[in-house]
Amino acid sequence: MPAVATNLDACCGCQSCNVCPASAISYDGENKVVISADCVGCGACKDSCPCGVIEMQ
Ligand code: SF4
Ligand code: SF4
Repeated sequence: MPAVATNLDACCGCQSCNVCPASAISYDGENKVVISADCVGCGACKDSCPCGVIEMQ
């Protein structure tokens, strides 16, 4: 299951989720998380987000 940013409004741009072993995490012009198709579903970004932005789907 890949990671999906389901609650982007809650993303504060803290970049705590910048832990991706597949380099699938980046940030847009407003510092909101962007998850690419390179996600291998490890769940590390979900576990590191304090704001509940990321789900595995
Ligand atoms: S689930 Fe793992 S591989 Fe996928 S974006 Fe998050 S940290 Fe990267
Ligand atoms: S850890 Fe959560 S709140 Fe912080 S940048 Fe990543 S998705 Fe946004």
